[in-house]
Amino acid sequence: MNNITNKVVIVGGGPVGLTLSLILARYNVSSLILEKRKEATPLDESRAITWMPRGLELLNWLGIYEKFHEKGVFRTFHQFRNQHRELLVLPFTTLQTPYSYSLQLPQHETETILEKAALETGLVEIRRGHEVIDIGQTEESVMVKVQYEDESYKIYAPFGVGCDGSKTMVREKLEIEKNWRDFGLNSGVADFELNCDLPKDVSNIILDPERPYGFFYFAPQRWRLIYRINKGEDREKASSFEFVRGLLNEKLPNVKIKRILWVSAFRLGEGQSNKYHKGRWVLAGDSAHAMGPSAGAGMMVGVLGAWRLGWRLALSVNKQHNLTRLLQDYSREQKVGADEIQDNNAIIFRNMAISNPILATGRSIILKFLGYIPLFKKKTIEKDALLNQILPVFGAVDQYVSKSASNLKSYGKWILGKRMPYISNEEGSHPLEQNTTKHMFISIGKYHPKREQKYFKSLCQDSEYPICKEFLHIGADSKYRKDGRDFVFALVRPDQHIVSILKLS
Ligand SMILES: Cc1cc2nc3c(=O)[nH]c(=O)nc-3n(C[C@H](O)[C@H](O)[C@H](O)COP(=O)(O)OP(=O)(O)OC[C@H]3O[C@@H](n4cnc5c(N)ncnc54)[C@H](O)[C@@H]3O)c2cc1C
Repeated sequence: MNNITNKVVIVGGGPVGLTLSLILARYNVSSLILEKRKEATPLDESRAITWMPRGLELLNWLGIYEKFHEKGVFRTFHQFRNQHRELLVLPFTTLQTPYSYSLQLPQHETETILEKAALETGLVEIRRGHEVIDIGQTEESVMVKVQYEDESYKIYAPFGVGCDGSKTMVREKLEIEKNWRDFGLNSGVADFELNCDLPKDVSNIILDPERPYGFFYFAPQRWRLIYRINKGEDREKASSFEFVRGLLNEKLPNVKIKRILWVSAFRLGEGQSNKYHKGRWVLAGDSAHAMGPSAGAGMMVGVLGAWRLGWRLALSVNKQHNLTRLLQDYSREQKVGADEIQDNNAIIFRNMAISNPILATGRSIILKFLGYIPLFKKKTIEKDALLNQILPVFGAVDQYVSKSASNLKSYGKWILGKRMPYISNEEGSHPLEQNTTKHMFISIGKYHPKREQKYFKSLCQDSEYPICKEFLHIGADSKYRKDGRDFVFALVRPDQHIVSILKLS
């Protein structure tokens, strides 16, 4: 059978594909997910388990945060130790967000909640057991060839997104090259069941040069162990249930392990595609940038990328803007966002590799010292929470250029390319919690309602992008307004990133 559809075709119904379908639905754009698995990722094979604060802000915007809150467990700090003592504690409490914690949930549950929410929108169709085996495109449409049981069929759609994970077929067919950064090490991940009184709201990271490891709680009775597979150890043996049981008995001698659920060994490395789009095809999630598992964050970077992509695709579907320029901006910005996390992960991987006791002692001294610097701790946890990413928006197609206003790089708490500060209005909701592809102006400088209104009108005349009819007028005493001499407006994208800061004279 041959089909022509006006839906966006998403290849892969993992966390990123499902989240993208929900984001598109918020903009009233329908999508079709083709997923080769008959069911969600199995419960006992949980991979991504952590939702960082910025990801929780996204869930809130999607209106499904409560569903995650009901099922998840919470972590409020990271603790780094060596074999002897505590070195550094990083609490989430200093974060400027309603979510001063990370939420843990097995990937199976994440996919189940996302899938149910996507189907409830009435705008998402999910075909499970349908494997995409080939793709193509013309100037007007994309083609996907799908295998379902013994039959194959083709679909033609306006756009296609490859959310098909790190072994992506979409990227290969598009002939987009991937770079692989290898850290020369293997690591193991094991999930297990445990009855114990160990603290559950902390991630324990033990920087033992003989074998660094970490363990933490991620679901009722469920814990995860991450450990280095040492040089010379057989990878298969070092990721057997027997090996993990021995390791757990050694590291946690006073607790009773009930059951080991899943163990896997991974090469420590990271993949990065040269670009994230070609014609009408886009890559998102692990297919664009595969993160190393031991440091997590792959799902977070992927879903935040889907947020950056969603409004751009919606504008393209509605033929409101030049597709190529929009996708170029998505590619450029998301690549910088993913690179930042990959560089961060590289630090973690290099630390995992340290086996020299002298180097390890030096590291302990440095970490202990850093623990006395509150600003270091605040900045590090903000980075971990993915709240302070600064994207390269300069020259983006939606950046505002006008003769009557000058562009600033920052103004008080407002920084170009960063997510807008998390302001809540009187009802407790975020001003950008709306389902619109429109950008929004926010007055952040001098307080003078009449003149602000006048300046806002003049800004709207020059704008090429769809803009919300009203600007956001934050209170005179708000800490988010810097009430100096100048009238200043921030232009914020539907994904809450600041694309322009304009000073009017
Ligand atoms: C052990 C481990 C622990 C991790 N922990 C974390 C963590 O705590 N936090 C975090 O943020 N990230 C973590 N990650 C990374 C995270 O799992 C991935 O980044 C995330 O799953 C990527 O989501 P995705 O939707 O892009 O890809 P995937 O989850 O890989 O989903 C891709 C989907 O596409 C489907 N598919 C593939 N090919 C086709 C095809 N041809 N046709 C149809 N369907 C297809 C697959 O069946 C799959 O369902 C971890 C990874 C591992 C391995």
